[in-house]
Amino acid sequence: MPEVAPIPFLDLDRALDPIRDPVEEAVLEVLRDGRYILGPHVAAFEAEWGTYLGNSGADVHVVGVSSGTAALFVALMALEIGPGDEVITTPFSFASPVEAICRLGATPVFVDVDPETYLLDLDQVEAAITSRTRVLLPVHLFGKCVDLERVRGLCDAHGLALVEDAAQAHGAKSSGMVAGTVGDLACFSFYPTKNLGAAGDAGAVVTRSEAMADKVRLIARHGSRRKYHHELLGQNERIDAVQAAVLRVKLPHLAGWNAERRSIAGRYHDALGGQVGLPPDSPGDVYHHMVCRIADRDNVRQTLMERGIGTGIYYPSALHTQPAFRAHMPEVPSLPVVERLTHEVLALPCFPGLRDDELFRVCAELLRV
Ligand SMILES: *Cc1c(COP(=O)(O)O)cnc(C)c1O
Repeated sequence: MPEVAPIPFLDLDRALDPIRDPVEEAVLEVLRDGRYILGPHVAAFEAEWGTYLGNSGADVHVVGVSSGTAALFVALMALEIGPGDEVITTPFSFASPVEAICRLGATPVFVDVDPETYLLDLDQVEAAITSRTRVLLPVHLFGKCVDLERVRGLCDAHGLALVEDAAQAHGAKSSGMVAGTVGDLACFSFYPTKNLGAAGDAGAVVTRSEAMADKVRLIARHGSRRKYHHELLGQNERIDAVQAAVLRVKLPHLAGWNAERRSIAGRYHDALGGQVGLPPDSPGDVYHHMVCRIADRDNVRQTLMERGIGTGIYYPSALHTQPAFRAHMPEVPSLPVVERLTHEVLALPCFPGLRDDELFRVCAELLRV
């Protein structure tokens, strides 16, 4: 058998290599400077992330926090979500939003997803609204936004708060609006593998309301404006100064990386379209993952692995079936679309620096399984 180099599912070094020196310099600068808690890089990153999102004209406030999960917790705490409240969300995502809902004593209400886009099925949301529903919490999964105009309209019509989980959607758009600028609150993660990733954990809460930003900042910083004076019940969810410094170096590259992800996705569509189930492409998608649907997924994945091609599964099980959340739901709903998707989804290599020859080999091998 000829020796061919394996193709990784993800290789973060390829995007990092060209900017390794300034990233390392930023880390050292914080180390030498000594202002480890908050400080100039945190304030500057918050302003720069707001400017990036606000390029479309939205005026937003940003509060840096310690992770995407922390962002979701703090956002729901700022809305004073608690026992008796219901939060409508998707069963097809990472667990963080549901952890926050359940931990605060509220009830997650899961609505099934759209089989094409994998996003919360907005046609089914209205039927799930009750007198206890407080929040609609959609996830912009794999870099594709839910229809922001429609979801905002649904929330306004029913008096619900909109919390966007934009952890996988840095710079994604829908009908001209940018993910994270439409919700009452939006939550970003800068986990290292996200489209904009730190060198550790980091996140941000985004809101157009100055009062809400103030409340979020207070909650994430011990409920305290003045040392040893605690206005409201908070906790420590500050973003780390080193991570803020790293993110500032990387942010100017985000648009280029997203363009590269889109062009990789375009080539997957050209090579595989009509032969493999692919999500529809919209111009605002930023392809955090390129996820296709394959009936015989597990065998195909195994064969690709034997041929040196890495793939991922997002997600192998649905959130409403997780034992951790069962006690927090009055009953476990039956959600046939997501239950089927968990057996069929396969994420293909899609990251800045993936080469054409690698991409075409992934497609060729996938088509000849
Ligand atoms: C990554 C992710 C989170 C959590 O972010 P962390 O920074 O890892 O805490 C939340 N929601 C979604 C959809 C994610 O992909």
